[in-house]
Amino acid sequence: NPILDIRNLSKTYKGGTTALAGVDLQIRKGEIFALLGPNGAGKTTLIGAVCGLLRPSSGTIEAFGKDAMRQWRDVRRRIGLVPQELAFDMFAQVDHSVQYSQGLFGSARNDAHIEEVLRSLSLWDKRTAKIRELSGGMKRRVMIAKALSHDPELLFLDEPTAGVDVELRRDMWRQIGTLRDRGTTIILTTHYIEEAQEMADRVGVINKGRLLLVDEKAAIMAKL
Ligand code: ADP
Ligand code: ADP
Repeated sequence: NPILDIRNLSKTYKGGTTALAGVDLQIRKGEIFALLGPNGAGKTTLIGAVCGLLRPSSGTIEAFGKDAMRQWRDVRRRIGLVPQELAFDMFAQVDHSVQYSQGLFGSARNDAHIEEVLRSLSLWDKRTAKIRELSGGMKRRVMIAKALSHDPELLFLDEPTAGVDVELRRDMWRQIGTLRDRGTTIILTTHYIEEAQEMADRVGVINKGRLLLVDEKAAIMAKL
């Protein structure tokens, strides 16, 4: 069974923009899936629909065998989301910010898990630093740590390397690979073909709200 099963999903925003038009997508447990498409293709809207941040116009979303719209809370607590924009209280300490995220989705406080997450992202030594004192790369790691704070089974990374330099991009790729090796299913969005090529097991190409191709990476790369 797929961990995520999206059927005929459409979203037309007030104002008339159709961001998603009949998307069907099944995500397998344990894979890295790259949603590849240009700006405005509908990638963020798709993530928002699964994470309960917006209401689809039509279609169904099943995650972990549950209806994501009816059982939003149950589903959301099993999902981690790293949004495109860095978003946190810059004056907060790294560990406090991650603890705060852990509490958001109803998880019991688990300091051991937070330590594990901070260590796995090489943030442990920075745990008492203020977020604003960290480098851009470290700030991105804090975003990932916050998304992992409640131990999600499915992780969304929205444009994880947009606007970052080559070195930081490679660092992010390593981090994402490590997460997959630990068993997390990962869906990332990107407009870099090379990122899909480097990271993904399967790739979906999306444009103007339509999923044009979904296939194993090698098959997609041969077609592009
Ligand atoms: P992507 O993440 O691929 O760049 P988005 O899902 O952000 O694409 O956007 C898809 C389309 O929906 C774009 O045309 C965008 O302008 C539009 N859009 C996104 N969010 C909103 C919104 N809240 N209200 C109206 N239109 C939106
Ligand atoms: P404190 O730990 O100072 O008593 P809180 O319990 O309210 O304060 O918050 C715990 C930590 O979470 C603090 O470091 C605070 O700055 C941080 N925090 C509060 N709101 C947010 C937020 N929206 N996003 C990230 N971190 C936050």
